[in-house]
Amino acid sequence: MKPAPFKYYAPTTLEASLTLVTEHGYDAKLLAGGQSLIPTMNFRLAEPSIIVDLNCVSELDYIRETRSGGLNIGAMTRQRSLERSDLVAKHSPLIYETMPFIAHPQIRNRGTVGGSIAHADPAAEFPAIFTALDAKFRLQNKNGDRWVPIRDFYLGMFATEMADEEILVEIEIPAMPKRSGYAFTEVARRHGDYAIVGVAAVISVDRKGRCQDCKLVFLSVGDGPVEALQAADVLKGESFSPEVVKAAAHAAAHKDIDPGDDLHASAAYRRHLANNLSIQVLTTAFQRAVNK
Ligand code: FAD
Repeated sequence: MKPAPFKYYAPTTLEASLTLVTEHGYDAKLLAGGQSLIPTMNFRLAEPSIIVDLNCVSELDYIRETRSGGLNIGAMTRQRSLERSDLVAKHSPLIYETMPFIAHPQIRNRGTVGGSIAHADPAAEFPAIFTALDAKFRLQNKNGDRWVPIRDFYLGMFATEMADEEILVEIEIPAMPKRSGYAFTEVARRHGDYAIVGVAAVISVDRKGRCQDCKLVFLSVGDGPVEALQAADVLKGESFSPEVVKAAAHAAAHKDIDPGDDLHASAAYRRHLANNLSIQVLTTAFQRAVNK
């Protein structure tokens, strides 16, 4: 399949890119790694008349440590760069650990962090792990920028808070809380496929090892990343035990999520996976926090 005809622009600065999206609005599409946009255009599910290619905008490609020990990541940073970054491994090990689950190396070589966030696929890993990490996103238009916390960013399947004239320019990941642990896992039919269910956990504990805060976030069970708030309530104030972890996982699978049936899995199978995967990530994250 070939895409519908379009005009192609390859600006070399953010400012020039913003000028183009301001001028063309809804008719323009930004091209990042192209790993989702190009197939969509080839199937003619999207027929933008203008493509604004961000691949020459090198100012959007960076990974930097923040003063408080978190990370700033430019939207055009390749997924492969995160996977190979010592800064990411040190400051955000959850991202580092999740990277091999995202598609295949060839796709991560081209795919960008910003492209995955903006695409808002409910089966993507970044939205889920960034929710667990409490990330925020910097959106820029011709007149300035604004920071949007991730909880306000996703509006539904493939839908975000971003306006047509805005470009996602930067992601900020706060420093991991003291005495915290993390874990990610998923089940996919084949390695590199989109997951049937995936889940990320970040747990912080007090000096006595009791859970202070818990973020348990799923992918592929709803219209976007789904945070399991009732499961977190089960864990808060508790010390680690297999029983309390099982109770939290049960709450996650049976109260927090409401998965649907599709070609890949039934709702019941998704709940079963959500339960078992939650036990795995909560156990690992809790033990990592306690042993820190
Ligand atoms: P593009 O495809 O270039 O763009 C995607 C969308 O985001 C477009 O609408 C574009 O206009 C918009 N956009 C891009 N950058 C910006 C920006 N800075 N500001 C505003 N809007 C922007 N992903 C997973 O998470 N998990 C997987 O398991 C997985 N498996 C895959 C398997 C295959 C075979 C393929 C082809 C892809 C897979 N992907 C998977 C998707 C992959 O991670 C993509 O790289 C990612 O979803 C999109 O990133 P991109 O940089 O390629 O964006």
